[in-house]
Amino acid sequence: MIYSTEGRGRLYGSVLETIGNTPAIRLNRIAPEGVEIYAKFEAFNPAGSVKDRLALNIIEAAEREGRLQPGQTVIEATSGNTGIGLAMVCAAKGYPLVITMHDGFSVERRQLMRFFGAKVVLTRKEDKAVGMVAKARELADENGWFLAHQFETKDNADIHETTTAREILADFDGKALDHVVLGYGTGGTATGLGRVLKQARKDIKITLSEPENAALVSSGTTQQRNEEGEPSVSHPAFAPHPVQGWTPDFIPLVMQEALDGGYFDGLLPVTGAESIAMARRLAAEEGILTGISGGASVAAAVKLAETAAAGTVILTMLPDTGERYLSTPLFEGIDADMDEEELSLSQSTPGFKY
Ligand code: PMP
Repeated sequence: MIYSTEGRGRLYGSVLETIGNTPAIRLNRIAPEGVEIYAKFEAFNPAGSVKDRLALNIIEAAEREGRLQPGQTVIEATSGNTGIGLAMVCAAKGYPLVITMHDGFSVERRQLMRFFGAKVVLTRKEDKAVGMVAKARELADENGWFLAHQFETKDNADIHETTTAREILADFDGKALDHVVLGYGTGGTATGLGRVLKQARKDIKITLSEPENAALVSSGTTQQRNEEGEPSVSHPAFAPHPVQGWTPDFIPLVMQEALDGGYFDGLLPVTGAESIAMARRLAAEEGILTGISGGASVAAAVKLAETAAAGTVILTMLPDTGERYLSTPLFEGIDADMDEEELSLSQSTPGFKY
């Protein structure tokens, strides 16, 4: 019996209380022989991604510290998941929300944010992430809105330090965990995990993955920033890649802590094609519906596993759900109409032919 009927042993006062405590799930068919790979599946968060954690913390820390007033408009630049998380949090708490996002990210993201009641102001994808960040800053300054600042705020890595990392320690208590592999968008997850896991379990290795054609950290070129830590220019090693949510065209300040603190033991590039192929395999072979960055994370974990000693245990992150990518290359070739095999099945018995 794999089902528990005990309930959760508590009632929830709001959807926001259901954020976090996501499961680490073993990959049974994709992991190479002799190596265990676990994936922490962040799609279990109520708005479907790892960014629900950060969204709640940014708002609640600002409330506590008096930086956000009741009814004040919140604004943020986001590749989507932070916007969706903030849209959920702002809806539940009653704050108006404006999102800036470039038009290269999936349209489902915009629709989801608008469904939660947010306004989505598009910038052009040619102006990259730097453009949408600058637009959010302009609108915030002009209107006196609260800028969430996910790429710079301490509230980002802090929530991963106090929740995501603790959940991992609790779930692997008394068990082996040799290696953590993950990518970065803001770097909140990587920095938060780096702070805690390296302290708590001295032998853990952390490997950072990046898109092969946007290997900003691997390039060794430092990011130029303004006094507030925001990027002042696009990073020269950036090229557009399909791993939405990973590696913007700059190294965020939040990520810089992990680099300066030496939290990473290695760098491992993955290609966009590998990421998409692995996200498809996760669905078809493990029953795990995750986005392109989830595929990228597991592709990196498998590369690492292929050269790892027998018995190695690896953990990686699945940042969001695959349902957020129906309009993207992830679902290319997945049609709404019946294919030939389906049509011939339809024709093969007499009733209800199509
Ligand atoms: N994958 C996806 C789909 C994301 O939206 C994000 C967040 N931008 C990440 C990965 C990376 O998480 P973090 O910002 O904590 O580095």
